[in-house]
Amino acid sequence: MPELPEVEAVRRELEPVLVPARIVSVTLNRDGLRRPFPPDFAARLTRQTVTALDRRGKYILARLASGDTLLIHLGMSGSFRIERGDPGPAPQDKHDHVVFGLASGARLVFNDPRRFGVLDLLAPGAESAVLALGPEPLDDARFDGAALARACAGSRAPLKAVLLDQRVVAGLGNIYAVEALHVARLSPRRRAATIATRDGRPRELADRLAAAIKTVLSRAIARHERPYRASRFLVYDRAGAPCPRRGCRGTVRRLVQSGRSTFYCATCQR
Ligand SMILES: [Zn+2]
Repeated sequence: MPELPEVEAVRRELEPVLVPARIVSVTLNRDGLRRPFPPDFAARLTRQTVTALDRRGKYILARLASGDTLLIHLGMSGSFRIERGDPGPAPQDKHDHVVFGLASGARLVFNDPRRFGVLDLLAPGAESAVLALGPEPLDDARFDGAALARACAGSRAPLKAVLLDQRVVAGLGNIYAVEALHVARLSPRRRAATIATRDGRPRELADRLAAAIKTVLSRAIARHERPYRASRFLVYDRAGAPCPRRGCRGTVRRLVQSGRSTFYCATCQR
């Protein structure tokens, strides 16, 4: 499932094609994806100009001249493809659910085999209530150890569960939560409240974890900019491998927490 770095990579790929771009046609090959498309979806998009392409958490937000925002979530398997020239008689992929025709002649095709994606329209002002997202992790003014400590104070949940809560920090998913906990040398099973003082101020652990989140996400974004470099995770999906931390003789273990796989080294992550 795409997380913040993957969604940001898609945003950067689409930006030169879509900003600015005028939408001249919208073809819907089904009624909806994870949920139905709004009834006036195609009408509200047709003849609109995309003025900016933003990202919030795992969402891409295409700003339209009308003031509406086209909300995009890739779900488990959503992707975009840009096609140019005559479509010809070539058979369409059966998972091409939406095709946006652009005034440039290009077509933006949304393909989503598992259909957990979302394409929706947000009226002006609706965004914060609909998305209900916490701070962007790479926004240093809004996200740091203190913000993390406030969210964790008093929580009986395991630390990893709190990191996956999009209201605490936006855009982190299973993979980068696992990676950040490893970099911070914190166990995913540690009780979240232990990174804060009793009155909700950050302990050193909170600052370390916030910094680790920023590090793993920035590195992943940079890696997507240079796709020829082999991407490799430190501990994610590496059960049984030796711990990658220099000097640690531990082994990466797999554990299931709330139905999701967690990978960590019990020797250096406490
Ligand atoms: Zn280790």
